[in-house]
Amino acid sequence: MSKILEIFNTMEYGPAPEAPDAVKAWLDEHNRKFGLFINNEWVTPKGAKFYSSINPSNGELLAETTQAEKKDVDAAVAAARMAFKTWSKTPGVTRARYLYAIARNIQKHSRLLAVLESMDNGKPIRESRDIDVPLLARHFYYYAGWAQLMETELRDYQPVGVVGQIIPWNFPLLMLAWKIAPAIAMGNTVVLKPASYTRLTALLFAEIVAEAGLPAGVVNVITGSSSAGSMIVEHPDVDKIAFTGSTDVGRTLRKQTAGSGKKLSLELGGKSPFVVFDDADLDGAVEGVVDAIWFNQGQVCCAGSRLIVQENVAGKFIQKLKNRMQHMRVGDPLDKAIDMGAIVDQSQWDTIDGWVKTGIAEGGECFQPNIALPEKGLFYKPTLITGLDPAAATVQEEIFGPVLVSLTFRTPSEAIEIANNTRYGLAASVWSDNINLALDVASKIKAGSVWVNCTNQFDGAAGFGGYRESGYGREGGREGLFEYLRPIWMDRPRPEFVLDEKKKWGEHVPTLPTQPGVARANGHSLPLVDRTPKMYIGGKQVRPDGAYTTTVLNAKGKIVGQIGDGNRKDIRDAVEAAHKARTSGWAMRHGYNRSQILYFIAENLDARNAEFVKRIVEMTGRTQKSAGAEVDASVERLFTYAAWADKYGGTVQETTLRGITVAVNEPVGVIGIACPDENPLLGFVSLMAPAIARGNSVVMIPSQKYPLSATDFYQVLDTSDVPGGVVNIVTGDRDHLVKTLVQHEDVDSVWYFGSAEGSYHVENESAANMKRTWTGYGLPRDWMSREQGEGHEFLHEATQVKNIWVPTGE
Ligand code: NAP
Repeated sequence: MSKILEIFNTMEYGPAPEAPDAVKAWLDEHNRKFGLFINNEWVTPKGAKFYSSINPSNGELLAETTQAEKKDVDAAVAAARMAFKTWSKTPGVTRARYLYAIARNIQKHSRLLAVLESMDNGKPIRESRDIDVPLLARHFYYYAGWAQLMETELRDYQPVGVVGQIIPWNFPLLMLAWKIAPAIAMGNTVVLKPASYTRLTALLFAEIVAEAGLPAGVVNVITGSSSAGSMIVEHPDVDKIAFTGSTDVGRTLRKQTAGSGKKLSLELGGKSPFVVFDDADLDGAVEGVVDAIWFNQGQVCCAGSRLIVQENVAGKFIQKLKNRMQHMRVGDPLDKAIDMGAIVDQSQWDTIDGWVKTGIAEGGECFQPNIALPEKGLFYKPTLITGLDPAAATVQEEIFGPVLVSLTFRTPSEAIEIANNTRYGLAASVWSDNINLALDVASKIKAGSVWVNCTNQFDGAAGFGGYRESGYGREGGREGLFEYLRPIWMDRPRPEFVLDEKKKWGEHVPTLPTQPGVARANGHSLPLVDRTPKMYIGGKQVRPDGAYTTTVLNAKGKIVGQIGDGNRKDIRDAVEAAHKARTSGWAMRHGYNRSQILYFIAENLDARNAEFVKRIVEMTGRTQKSAGAEVDASVERLFTYAAWADKYGGTVQETTLRGITVAVNEPVGVIGIACPDENPLLGFVSLMAPAIARGNSVVMIPSQKYPLSATDFYQVLDTSDVPGGVVNIVTGDRDHLVKTLVQHEDVDSVWYFGSAEGSYHVENESAANMKRTWTGYGLPRDWMSREQGEGHEFLHEATQVKNIWVPTGE
């Protein structure tokens, strides 16, 4: 026995290299020079400039790739537009055949894809062969299934159109799969731009797609710099942008697309927590850390880069981790026996090294194992920095390299607080043998994916995406489909407005009082008893902070009332009240309870039916019949969301994990809602009800023109057991008030149904803190129709999907 151990301990490490020959042959076949892939053909533009694709592990030139210019982007978009005409009408079952053929072709060329991916990116062949490429095929199989089912399961939806897709360099093939598979499955066509550092596998993939027989123009791949990406974003004939990359570029894209009516999904950066409780299997958790932060050299958006260990086991855990790090092998990406390959590019290497130096300067203690690195190539040792302050930049900022920082905690609530102490919210990993504790913590961490006693799990059947500054939208799973769909009744919004550059958006001068007596007497011999509604904040009627009042006129210009003229302070108070309501339990109440309250609101609204009808007639000048229909529809809408309050909680995802993956439709948080002017009551109810049904608390800005139905609503809320702060109402100048909501750090989403120009400003301002927005672009919506005024679109906006992964078994 001791002999075997002896042999084992003294065994020499022998490399097991994968041969690059097939890749070299493929590159040579193309004379190591690539054009753009448009309409299933290689196109080399006249006078094209080229970019050198380099193998980061040895500096070898792999090939030259084209730098696309504006005319090339135009040609690719035109090809996609032309193909969209037939592809969008091609039956789903036929599209499914194509996706299936692509998946099969990926498997047939899997070795070539994996080796090229490792040579172009520097990632270990073990990862590209066993993770990236199998997941690439898996996504095409999974979405072939959704193409097959689209006409029966998604019959209320249509494709969005031509989609511009821009991806990063860390998982070139996987990112491409996340984007292209759902897009073409739903009948869209694509122009994809890979990152500059890693262009080659996207080009090989384009050939594989064409070989599978996909019609020309459905998938177009153009290479180029960030300016080519920008041209795709700005192209007027692109209907949606799907972007994965850094938060800073995401912010730029949000601004560029603001007010355009283009759909936008953003998968951005992260600084994900890896939480270890004292009862966890510490050895298992150490292996988890290795997978969390040193997978792909730490160049992973969801890398577990912030280790948070319970204080009483922290010393022991860190020692185990350091021991493990001494056994890591860094080297040639094509060696099947290495743990870490090369960093993608010298500039990224410099950024990582810069962060390590910053960590040391910030007082951290840096540990790097005593292991050998190859003499040539961009290699970096696995690195651990301990002893940092939680506010240190190294703890807060994404490093995107093999650098782990560690912190400690004492209690579960402290662990949650530290885990959430970040502007990001992409993923988290929780380790504990107490499943109740682990799931409770998982539910309280703000992140799109939470892995319990495991890490970095991905599958086509589960969505991936962020909270907060990690972006919005999901890729993967059924939830990922909605990024590539539009309700069947809705055309691509093409808002029209002229931006008044001189006017500062949202500026507001309080209105002056009307002439004495005019406001209230209105021809009566006795002045009416004054009934000027105040604000409704925290379940109480409060005076407007600015103590200004504004007058409400009816359709004929006659005064029908006065309301408080809200300001920033009123909004801030309302947001604070909304937060209190959330944290004191509205989101945690069960759906049954929320549905009971919605039914109660409906009951109380119906009891005052005549009063609300009268108010609508008085304000809008519409007929009694039309106003009556609006009140009836409002009652019915409340019933709809009472119904949805306990039927939209989530689902069990059928992933490849041995265990369970649960998709939870969590509330978004605090939502600021600016209501439309048409249908002053129904518009208000149609937006408030889905939000609160799904556990959000709201700050409502009623119709600016006809606000009195909303202020009458206070009394309905007061008598319906709605906890104070769940619904807050601030009246006044819509754009002035909504501006404060968009800029507020504690508002999670803003819905805006005002003008086209206002929609632009809401989207543009939201870039500052990457707030989720939903705008109407000033276009008409028929609130009376069930198709346009209620349903899935509203529930989708009122929720965000969190996928919790829990392996099972011994
Ligand atoms: P990046 O600099 O933001 O670039 C991403 C892509 O955008 C590249 O194709 C890039 O082209 C292009 N681009 C850059 N500036 C642009 C602009 N102004 N307009 C249009 N396109 C532009 O990010 P990266 O350094 O490649 O990737 C790392 C980042 O991606 C990290 O922050 C990471 O967390 C994030 N990421 C997120 C996820 C997720 O699912 N949430 C997944 C993977 C990575 P060039 O390469 O030609 O400059």
